[in-house]
Amino acid sequence: MDIGSEALAVSDTIAADGPLPRRRSIGVRVGTGPGAILVGGGAPIVVQSMTNTDTADVEATAAQVAALARAGSELVRITVDRDEAAAAVPHIRDRLAQSGCTVPLVGDFHYIGHKLLADHPACAQALDKYRINPGNVGFKDKRDSQFSSIVEIALKHGKPVRIGVNWGSLDQDLLTALMDANARSSTPLSTGAVTREAMVRSALLSAARAEQLGLSRDRIILSAKVSDVQHLIAVYRMLAARSDYALHLGLTEAGMGSKGIVASSAAMGILLQEGIGDTIRVSLTPEPGGDRTVEVKVGQELLQTMGFRTFVPLVAACPGCGRTTSTVFQELARDIQAYIRDEMPLWRSRYPGVETLNVAVMGCIVNGPGESKHADIGISLPGTGEAPAAPVFIDGEKAMTLRGEGIAAEFKALVVDYIERRFGGARSAAE
Ligand code: SF4
Repeated sequence: MDIGSEALAVSDTIAADGPLPRRRSIGVRVGTGPGAILVGGGAPIVVQSMTNTDTADVEATAAQVAALARAGSELVRITVDRDEAAAAVPHIRDRLAQSGCTVPLVGDFHYIGHKLLADHPACAQALDKYRINPGNVGFKDKRDSQFSSIVEIALKHGKPVRIGVNWGSLDQDLLTALMDANARSSTPLSTGAVTREAMVRSALLSAARAEQLGLSRDRIILSAKVSDVQHLIAVYRMLAARSDYALHLGLTEAGMGSKGIVASSAAMGILLQEGIGDTIRVSLTPEPGGDRTVEVKVGQELLQTMGFRTFVPLVAACPGCGRTTSTVFQELARDIQAYIRDEMPLWRSRYPGVETLNVAVMGCIVNGPGESKHADIGISLPGTGEAPAAPVFIDGEKAMTLRGEGIAAEFKALVVDYIERRFGGARSAAE
């Protein structure tokens, strides 16, 4: 028996699977002018984020929106929770325009959105999209009139809306009605299953009502966020199966640090692999005083590592082990990654295509040369007991060996040189 060829056939089958085709959804254009972006309709999956400044503070909010946009956020949502915040929105838009930032702004409304939008028409006009939560748009008799008011204002200003259901603020009347019906059923579902059904129905019934009021389907995006990974996957599978609205994916209250990143990536990764999701937001809790743009980087890295989009050159680095007793290799991997991130805003326009670059920084001779050969440019640093020499591989060939104290600076210069040679031509051709 030829074991070798049989093993190859099996691994080929697995590798060929890849992501399922993207679910067909109706495209929604958000914004006008150079920053406008299409969500759904087969467009690339959009990365978005949300500020955590007081929106009434124009300076702080404009600065954070600009930072999120610079990091790559293609839509930025801001809280509009009171008159002072609504009054500040047009000034934030102006401040951003003065600095050349055209990222579409989304207003997040709860409870009194209908009133804020009606009382502040300049805010209604300055925003590019409104987010409505059907669970707290109004209660009992007021729900429909307040929901209708927001949709009518969206129609008047030509804005799309996101109908964003959240299980922390789910429509209690709808949930109670479904729970009661479930209790009477001879084959009752679990509480979790009924809650998921209530979420999906809340989103779909609200979208149907918005359409009845005149909002076209290419102005409606849906989301149904929960903080539990398995529930999130189940809810979005249901939404995807029962509608063709563009879908905004996100695990709500994902948490801090690695927990938030892992949970968001696990949940959204599975859905994206199934072709579900037109825009994503990673809801990370930052450390006090921490960098809000991390959520944008995580969103981009999720899409890029899964092969959906390319944003920045990727740096492959080994984890290090007992063979790397010095910190040289970790420092170089960190420096190169930070350097690339910092330079990307400039490189993006100067070197078209640079985001597809692959760099490898490896810790020793075991996997170093092999991994470096797979990258466009890679370096294999000397492990403990190895000769103090660092071979550099360019386009799969050993190009040189670096030695001495200046390895990090020399390798950085080689990366820049490689980028100029490989991607600088595209710039010249475009000029
Ligand atoms: S490449 Fe070398 S240093 Fe890095 S993890 Fe493997 S054995 Fe350890």
